[in-house]
Amino acid sequence: MTCCKCDKYGWDEPQQTVFRAPRGMQREYCVFHAPSICKEISALKFNELVEGIIIKCSMKENGYMQSCNLSGVVFPNNISLFSQYDMPMYFDGAKFRMDAIFPNVQFKFVASFNNAVFFESAYFECSRFDDFADFSRAKFRKGAFFSKILASSLAVFDEAIFHGGANFGESSFHGNVYFCNAIFRQAGQFNSTTFTGPVNFDNASIDNTLLFSSSKFFAGASFDSLTCQSKALDMSHVSTRTITNIALSKDNFDKFLFQNTDFESKIKPGFKNCTFLENITELFRLAKRDAASEHDQPGVSLWHYQEKSAMLELIRERSPWLWHFHWLNLYRLSSGYGERENRAFICLIILVLIPLGLNALPRPDLNFPYSEIVNSTLSYIPFTKDLPAQSGWLRLGQGVTQFLITIQATIFAFALRNRFRR
Ligand SMILES: [Zn+2]
Repeated sequence: MTCCKCDKYGWDEPQQTVFRAPRGMQREYCVFHAPSICKEISALKFNELVEGIIIKCSMKENGYMQSCNLSGVVFPNNISLFSQYDMPMYFDGAKFRMDAIFPNVQFKFVASFNNAVFFESAYFECSRFDDFADFSRAKFRKGAFFSKILASSLAVFDEAIFHGGANFGESSFHGNVYFCNAIFRQAGQFNSTTFTGPVNFDNASIDNTLLFSSSKFFAGASFDSLTCQSKALDMSHVSTRTITNIALSKDNFDKFLFQNTDFESKIKPGFKNCTFLENITELFRLAKRDAASEHDQPGVSLWHYQEKSAMLELIRERSPWLWHFHWLNLYRLSSGYGERENRAFICLIILVLIPLGLNALPRPDLNFPYSEIVNSTLSYIPFTKDLPAQSGWLRLGQGVTQFLITIQATIFAFALRNRFRR
């Protein structure tokens, strides 16, 4: 009789059975697959048996590399094996009853922990996955420690369940990364993590928060259909250049917390990429809407200013000369997009002083008929005097100036209102 699990997981060499299930006479298990308490072997001896399999697999057969199949093995004790694996390693459906200790380990080929169950902590800190790292449907009952790992290829954690904390901080992922349908019961840390390839957290379920502080997203990052509270994804200190790779929409925007991201500072000239500017304009627009819905007036002002700055940069990119005369640039110059009341006031004063100066100019004889100057100036200021019947050009000038002063006074009032709202 061979071990039912050896059959199930396709072991090349089915092992001798040592345990028969009390019910269901057909089910017998080898020492590797038997439940922890039924192995009747010391911890040391069991680990030696496992090491024996790995060593045997590491020897090439006829020059061909073999893969090491430890699928379905029930590890009753703390397991800490080798620091380097030169062949594909399969731990699919394995059960780690105690700590799984794989720090500083290099997996040169596939490392598959598909459906594995880690009953205690799983330590993979500083490990290297040179090939496919598969942790899909893995269950981490306690802490999952993956900080400072280097995953050079595909890394999949689809449908993984993290019952304890998940720490992926300071890690580097160079291939595609999938956490689709993953469940995070506790906080997850991805701080200072670098994602060179696309990242996908679609349909993930997050009970606490995921911290992406200072992380870098160099390719697309998707966070669609998440089940989580608002602000559950902390994107503090994520740089402007990579934050626009995060796919934001009006459906998921409230899930993100953007704090101290450097796009809060003024958009600097030099972002020459129009797509980037379009994306970031949309990002600021969403942020403004979000702040408005929370009655966060300083936030609304900040994002409004940033949105308009980014829009203006986009116009500057597209029209290197004409942007000077674009209404948005005039809006910036006259009032800092309605957010700089002092500037608006100074512009208003200048608009009033210009006709005053012009009216005073043609009288260089130092004989100032003040009353007359003031009177003529008032012709340029709205609501102070009806336009007198003078030459057409003069009336046009007075009309235009009146119009501009009215507009500027309105903008000033608007900026002042924004100031008092903040
Ligand atoms: Zn077996």
